[in-house]
Amino acid sequence: MTGLLLAQALKKLGIPYRVFERDSSRCWRSQGWGLTVHSFSAPKIRYLLPDVVSAQIPSVLVDPVNAADMTDLMILDMSTGEPLTAMRVPGRMRLNRKKTRDLFLEGGGGVDVQWNKTVVSYGATEHGVKAVFADGSEYEGGMLVGVDGARSVVRSVLCSDKAALNILPITFLGIQLDITREEISPLLKIDPITFLGLSQAADACLFYAVMSSPEVNGTASLAPSEHRWHVQLSVSWQKRAGDISVPDSNEGRVQLLHQKLAHVWPPLKDAVLNHTTHENIQVDVLSIGDWVPLQEGWDNLDGRVTLAGDAAHTMTMFRGEGFNNAVLDAYNLVQAITQVYSEPVSSPNFAEQRKKLIDEYEQELRARGARVVLASREQCMRVHNWEEYIEWTRKSTWGIPHEQPSP
Ligand SMILES: Cc1cc2nc3c(=O)[nH]c(=O)nc-3n(C[C@H](O)[C@H](O)[C@H](O)COP(=O)(O)OP(=O)(O)OC[C@H]3O[C@@H](n4cnc5c(N)ncnc54)[C@H](O)[C@@H]3O)c2cc1C
Repeated sequence: MTGLLLAQALKKLGIPYRVFERDSSRCWRSQGWGLTVHSFSAPKIRYLLPDVVSAQIPSVLVDPVNAADMTDLMILDMSTGEPLTAMRVPGRMRLNRKKTRDLFLEGGGGVDVQWNKTVVSYGATEHGVKAVFADGSEYEGGMLVGVDGARSVVRSVLCSDKAALNILPITFLGIQLDITREEISPLLKIDPITFLGLSQAADACLFYAVMSSPEVNGTASLAPSEHRWHVQLSVSWQKRAGDISVPDSNEGRVQLLHQKLAHVWPPLKDAVLNHTTHENIQVDVLSIGDWVPLQEGWDNLDGRVTLAGDAAHTMTMFRGEGFNNAVLDAYNLVQAITQVYSEPVSSPNFAEQRKKLIDEYEQELRARGARVVLASREQCMRVHNWEEYIEWTRKSTWGIPHEQPSP
């Protein structure tokens, strides 16, 4: 996501770029979840994209009406369906991640991607940097930006033994399913798009979100009984001594999910159980981890190599800010790269400018990255601890406001 957004912006500015991707094609992985985009990053996405691509953002909303401008995130007692609190986060959009990625990839004539290119290392050259790939190929450029995600190889070279993810003690199961108008109607009354819930009885946190409404998935043209909402649901809980481990088989995972949902508010439980057998539902298990950017920095080879997105600050999804911060990185980096490229590569000032501007970019990245990674970790641990969460809601009627990260 970060790499494609950056590539769209560089293409718009006429600055040469190459995108290398380890997957063999654009269809290789679906990663089909929704993305909440906050008001602090949405204008920057529009700035980075060419106008013709930015104009298509409404086409990747999960619901053309209700997902365009969302205000409160409801947080429920998931055993009863009663509200516990709400987080006031106005101006949010909810996008379909896969469609957004395709828009960044193909919109406005598309960006060039070299598939099947797994970066394994890099090294400085006289004027720039050389990236080395698993197939033995090498490419040289003025700068290398590691946007290779949570388990970044570029980060592991930059930060060696300090690059590993911090794995949190959370078990996380995720599913997607289609539900009917009748089944979704009690859920729509709470919120037309998404809510978070904690269940003391299930000892779990549940996150539910619409991924496509009937207007988006085409069922709106059918009889109301045929309308379908494609939804995502995650069920996660804190690992405790004596927990049974998550089964390897999908059948076992579906059984475990059913056990957890047995204690959940009946309308949500029934909507899910009506549709989940091991034959029609794939239960994904995600490892929950984070990485705080090193405050002491890293050797960026005088600005030749840097990081952005999850590679620079991997965070849990419980504040919905990973992609939003990747957008801020891309925005800041584009400002720096534009200034670097105002000098020809052969100019004596080029290397000096590159070092100064990338050092400044990374200074802001490290401060903001540390703040948001730790806030997301805190939120993750709190929503998996009923007593602590209830205590916290007593102190704050409206939950933790989403602070706008400094630009
Ligand atoms: C369930 C879930 C829900 C989320 N919800 C939200 C949300 O609501 N809001 C939000 O802001 N964020 C959310 N996030 C986080 C968000 O998805 C990420 O922050 C965002 O996708 C990061 O984008 P990225 O480009 O940095 O990394 P990625 O999207 O992971 O892209 C990295 C790319 O690099 C490629 N790659 C990896 N290694 C190599 C290599 N060695 N060589 C070449 N290519 C390589 C990968 O194949 C991939 O294409 C969520 C995450 C999850 C898991």
